Amino acid sequence: MKEKKINIAVIGGGASGLIAAIEAKKNSDSSCIVSIFEKNDRVGRKILSTGNGRCNLGNNSRDICYYGGTITDIVPQIFFNFPDTKEYFRSFGLICREEDNRLYPNSNHASSVLDAIRLSAQSYGVDIYCNCEITEISLKKNKFMLKSSDNIIYYSDVVIFSTGGYAAPALGTDGSAFSILKRLGIKISRCYPALCPIKTNPNLVNNLKGIRIRARASLFDSNENLITSELGEVQFTSDSLSGVCIFNLAAYCKNRNDLFISIDLMPNTNLKEVYQLLFDIYTYRSNWLLEDFLTGIFQKKMTLQILKRCNISLKSIKMTCMLSEKDLYSITNVIKDWRFPVCSLSEWNNSQVTNGGVPLKEINSNLELKKIPNFYITGEALDLHGACGGFNLNWAWASGFCAGRNASLKWRKISYD
Ligand SMILES: Cc1cc2nc3c(=O)[nH]c(=O)nc-3n(C[C@H](O)[C@H](O)[C@H](O)COP(=O)(O)OP(=O)(O)OC[C@H]3O[C@@H](n4cnc5c(N)ncnc54)[C@H](O)[C@@H]3O)c2cc1C
Repeated sequence: MKEKKINIAVIGGGASGLIAAIEAKKNSDSSCIVSIFEKNDRVGRKILSTGNGRCNLGNNSRDICYYGGTITDIVPQIFFNFPDTKEYFRSFGLICREEDNRLYPNSNHASSVLDAIRLSAQSYGVDIYCNCEITEISLKKNKFMLKSSDNIIYYSDVVIFSTGGYAAPALGTDGSAFSILKRLGIKISRCYPALCPIKTNPNLVNNLKGIRIRARASLFDSNENLITSELGEVQFTSDSLSGVCIFNLAAYCKNRNDLFISIDLMPNTNLKEVYQLLFDIYTYRSNWLLEDFLTGIFQKKMTLQILKRCNISLKSIKMTCMLSEKDLYSITNVIKDWRFPVCSLSEWNNSQVTNGGVPLKEINSNLELKKIPNFYITGEALDLHGACGGFNLNWAWASGFCAGRNASLKWRKISYD
């Protein structure tokens, strides 16, 4: 089998791997061979899918309250050391603009982000091997031996592991790379989909399919303790609740089946005001058909489901004037607190991020494995996930930056020793 010697091997040409490779090459001397190994036919395929093709490439906030996982105090330090995102990408010629703290490329196309990064990597002299999956890594005489799908054995002084997690397997991230780490004796926290739809009882949502509404979604346990709450768009599908605020709740669900989601369809109006509103409508729509009672507030199919949830049958109560005071109270309650049981999280292919991965206590502040010196881990392969809004790419860039710079320092030390 053919063998090749390289100096810094970056496994995975996604967001964090590309930045890690650029920083590793930029901060080493020209003799340092930095290579990216990417199993897809091109690097950065996931970047093209981000932000619905617009790439929400960051968020002005780096507050760790937007992150979950086994966070340690190295996380704020890594964010602190990463330059201002807009300035950083400007140095690649990529101009960003802001929408409510979220960063997007000025072109509004994710391809601009990928192309600016990919072409910069090439111009710095990073070698990129596509269609090349790394299947095994072992230590041989102070070097890492990398087995690849192109039947070449690569020997590298330093490894940066940037393979992502399980989310969006069609884009190359099916979690199989974690087996490489497991064989090296590295523990992986159990992984669950995050930022994904939440499945509920299909009977409760099937007739609401296609509706999108601005609401407050709150996640509770079976003792009615509030876990977290989000304001934003809720979408209904045939068997799930979806939309940005539901995605953010998903990160708290893992495999728990004792949870429910409460949807407040009128988050800016309190219970008393909603009742008063319904009472007023009841008064001047008394001769309307009941199915039209909430016209102007909700879509008709939602009105029908609200009434069904209140056990108000259109067969027995045809006209609005036939509603009782008790009926008005129960409609008010459903509008403010419509409950949906959490059955499960959606599948990996509907998930944007992995909740789980290599626990941060396994690595030092340079993102180097404590157990295996010269081996760095970045991005979603680590047990850290962010909320919707550019927080995950924030982490991918910042962790790639940190690992790439430290890997180059390490390589200098190794090569001068
Ligand atoms: C549909 C979608 C939309 C998203 N939108 C946003 C958004 O707008 N903003 C945001 O902040 N985040 C978004 N995210 C999340 C964000 O894209 C990821 O968190 C981020 O890309 C993770 O970066 P990474 O470098 O860790 O891994 P990835 O970008 O997933 O890259 C990992 C790479 O490693 C390769 N690989 C895996 N195993 C091997 C192996 N054994 N050998 C060689 N190569 C391997 C994979 O093919 C892949 O290219 C989105 C995710 C999805 C799926």
